[in-house]
Amino acid sequence: MKNQTNDPNSAQPPGGRGSAGVVVVALIGDDGGPTRPEQNPRVVKSDAEWLAQLGEEAFRITRRAGTERPFCGLLLDNKEQGVYFCVCCSLPLFASNAKFQSGTGWPSFFQPFARENVAELEDRSHGMIRTEIECARCSGHLGHVFEDGPPPTGLRYCLNSEALTFVNDVEIARRRLRGAVGEQIVEPTGGRVLERATFGAGCFWGVQSEFDALPGVVRSWVGFMGGKTEDPTYREVCSEETGHAEVVHLEYDPAQVRYEALLELFWAAHDPTQVDRQGPDVGSQYRTVIFTHSAEQLRLAEVSRTRLAASGAHRRPIATVIEEAGKFYPAEEYHQKYLAKRGMNTCRLR
Ligand SMILES: [Zn+2]
Repeated sequence: MKNQTNDPNSAQPPGGRGSAGVVVVALIGDDGGPTRPEQNPRVVKSDAEWLAQLGEEAFRITRRAGTERPFCGLLLDNKEQGVYFCVCCSLPLFASNAKFQSGTGWPSFFQPFARENVAELEDRSHGMIRTEIECARCSGHLGHVFEDGPPPTGLRYCLNSEALTFVNDVEIARRRLRGAVGEQIVEPTGGRVLERATFGAGCFWGVQSEFDALPGVVRSWVGFMGGKTEDPTYREVCSEETGHAEVVHLEYDPAQVRYEALLELFWAAHDPTQVDRQGPDVGSQYRTVIFTHSAEQLRLAEVSRTRLAASGAHRRPIATVIEEAGKFYPAEEYHQKYLAKRGMNTCRLR
């Protein structure tokens, strides 16, 4: 079963297993299945970079060969059709049609998305001899593979949810539509998957410049969401008759920045206890709101809001509303990168 011979006891830096350079892996083809295996650059980053990208728990699991507690992983009961990507480098690792209920408490699959994408190595830790599995492109620890799985393979790939990012089939198909403003895309080379995020946190000029400074935010727009008027103008939104909120709409690379980090910046970028205003800007268009683009974003946003409310950081209750994202209407070009065009980086009064 081995296609790599590494001594697991040797002190290798995480992410540095094997040689630098290239690996041969499969990406997602036009039919949603794997492409023919092709050469791809190995993904190598420093611990500091991985930690900043992943957060502590996913770092502990993927870069330090940790294990999450059984029955606690977020993807254990996920029954949606789609693909599970490496949380570190976005390589497609497992498809939902190979997922099965193993009863072990960890997400389980009987085969990988492509054989080349999941590397195996001997693991002699904890007094056992097991076969560890890791992402072939970035050497991120995934879990183990055992020989007690169901047909047709008889294998059980036992995963940590924290090592995976799930994207459903509808979203994968949508991401193939390239070029439209705000659309997510799958880059055919490198398998880089961009995701969208949308936040309303008051005056959108300053919020956009704060997000633009975050590594992993690939593109951003200011505009409107959450109302009824189609193609609203800035002036119409200011009249408060459209129902729209001023928002910042982002495309980000989840291999570089996680949604949790975007949420943290969102909370820090405004006062989430103010209702229909931010400082001197008054009106429902300045309401504090998170527009979510997936069930996973919804869950993370709710967890994050609950955590903030319980933290005691704010005396007044959190006013932030979490809503499913609607259509995004970019604001007039005049408003895009407003502060950057003027050599400023904040419009907040301090
Ligand atoms: Zn990876």
